[in-house]
Amino acid sequence: MNVETKDLPIAENEVNISSVEQAREKEMPARSPRRKNARTIRAMLMIGLCVLLLVVTGLAVFGFTRSARLQAKIDEQNKQLTAQSEQLQTKESEKDALQQQNDTLKSEKDTLQKEKDTLKKEADALRSQIALKKQQQQGNVQAAPQKPAITVAAPSNGSRPLVALTFDDGPGPYTERLLDILKEQGVKATFFMLGNRISRYPDLVKRMEAEGHTLGNHSYDHAYLSGKSSATVSANLENCNKQIRNLVGHNAAVVRFPYGAADQTAKNAAAAVDMPVIYWSVDTLDWKYRNVDSILNISFGKSGIRDGSIVLMHDIHKSTVDAMPEMIKRLKAQNYQFVTVPELLTLRRGGMVPGKVYGSAYP
Ligand SMILES: [Zn+2]
Repeated sequence: MNVETKDLPIAENEVNISSVEQAREKEMPARSPRRKNARTIRAMLMIGLCVLLLVVTGLAVFGFTRSARLQAKIDEQNKQLTAQSEQLQTKESEKDALQQQNDTLKSEKDTLQKEKDTLKKEADALRSQIALKKQQQQGNVQAAPQKPAITVAAPSNGSRPLVALTFDDGPGPYTERLLDILKEQGVKATFFMLGNRISRYPDLVKRMEAEGHTLGNHSYDHAYLSGKSSATVSANLENCNKQIRNLVGHNAAVVRFPYGAADQTAKNAAAAVDMPVIYWSVDTLDWKYRNVDSILNISFGKSGIRDGSIVLMHDIHKSTVDAMPEMIKRLKAQNYQFVTVPELLTLRRGGMVPGKVYGSAYP
């Protein structure tokens, strides 16, 4: 019985316990699913958080590494750019230095060129002097440029305006008619003739001399005589003078170099044979237009004939000779006195110095 009694409480206990458990179990079904859910959510949240942390960390690490790499790249590029710009600066300064050198060389070259020109001129002058001295030693001339002015019996002038008509490149087929016109009008002129034409018109040359015109030298063959040797120029002038001399017994009184081209050597050669060098102040351009009206328009235009003019024309053109009667008529109407070049320069300049250049005799 004892056992049974002893056993009973146990059984009772057991019953009690189990009843508690049962009671608990009865309560449990209401609580347990919620807990499980909460645990699951917590766990998931934890996992999510961990994953997020991992991702963020990864991203941060990745970003950091990447930006460090980019920074390094940028730094390197910056370095390269700096180096390039330094190179450019160096090159720029090298270029400047070269430019300066170039400038220096250029100015040195200019200076040398000037010196060379000066030396050349000096050499030319010396050569001319030597040539003159040689001629003087041969007894041809005295110190030509120092000679007194050539004296010409000047016509009485009063206060009339003066004009010197000059005719180049002849004699030619129209020269005889020109001489007729000049004679009829009582006009004196100056003829700058070519040596190689004189032999074809010997009578006309003698007539010019007889009728008071001045005989001028225009070279033998219309050669360009600037830049030529003293011997060449002298020989050419002499070839023309010889022709004139053979007909009238003396050289030409004046020279007009073809194209108006005379350097110092040429002037010295002229001086050596007593000839002043004559240019002009009115160019009628008769050789160009070959037209009476244009000759007259130029002669009486703005920069035309005035007191003291030396007028350039060419008696080898028909139109030039055709223009003469009207030109003379108009000049006479303006009270002009027609003189030869030596007369003009004697009246206005007191004479002519051999080798000296005269282009006009304006008051
Ligand atoms: Zn000419």
